[in-house]
Amino acid sequence: MRLRDSFARFSKWQQTPRSYSDQGLPTHHCANCGHEFVGNFCPICGQKGTQGSVSWKAVQESIMNLWNVDSHSLPITMWQLLLRPGYLISEFINGRRQVSFPPLNMLFTIAVGYVFIMYLCGESYADVQIVQDNTTLFETATNWLSSHPAWGMLSVTMIMILPTWTLFHFAPRNPHHTLPKGIFIQLFMSSLMFFCLIFAQLFSGFILLIPFYYYAAYRQLFGYRFWGTMWRLLLSAIIWFSIIVLIAMILIIPSNLKADSLLHLLIADLFMVGFIVALLMVGYWISKHSARRRKDTTKAIQQ
Ligand SMILES: [Zn+2]
Repeated sequence: MRLRDSFARFSKWQQTPRSYSDQGLPTHHCANCGHEFVGNFCPICGQKGTQGSVSWKAVQESIMNLWNVDSHSLPITMWQLLLRPGYLISEFINGRRQVSFPPLNMLFTIAVGYVFIMYLCGESYADVQIVQDNTTLFETATNWLSSHPAWGMLSVTMIMILPTWTLFHFAPRNPHHTLPKGIFIQLFMSSLMFFCLIFAQLFSGFILLIPFYYYAAYRQLFGYRFWGTMWRLLLSAIIWFSIIVLIAMILIIPSNLKADSLLHLLIADLFMVGFIVALLMVGYWISKHSARRRKDTTKAIQQ
């Protein structure tokens, strides 16, 4: 019973980790412009209410500002990303920016941490050998991506934008999300994937955290139940893989290709494009219909 209680408290915290109130705000005398005000920031010049006296805290804040880390929000954001990923992303894309460290900055910081940890473990993060004479565009691309881990991770997760947008378009939570929102969703997911890779360095079985986190984050973000989230994610993964195969097929074209094999490759590419579009359309259609059915049942319950 106690375990259930603490789990209930944990899931409540996941949904609303903090609340804002203007009760008990201190009155400040702005050290910059002399204005008397209530709150955290001066409404005339914008300086922080607590800023002014030069203390050890001011020294620490200056150092943190150098790394663009404002008031420790990076560790807090990382912690929240690990424990309540979908809710954090949902808050961010709905305009509650103050809860989160800027996601792109976070991704690059975590990528640097990942490279550093790999270095400590005595491994090079780039397994692909750097070829001097790149014969195909594909090799150039994979070399570049593996030597730029943050951009590499980002380009791998960004492929999820399209399946996410079509399959989760009529979700109970965050419906009709826009493509820019989709970019931010995958930005957060990229950071999360780096965490999974770091954990997998400790114990290789932790690589399973990658599908687990995609499930947990999408369930919290879009509000589908177990199977609703599951089949959409599985279909997304198939589409994601097909898009990677398609990109590889396009990039792999060697320079000395005969016209007839070029034609074969072109037909194969077109077939792949058709396959991906068909999967996207089927997922979109089923999602749209299940959303309509959901609306009908809620209407029937209300009547
Ligand atoms: Zn002021």
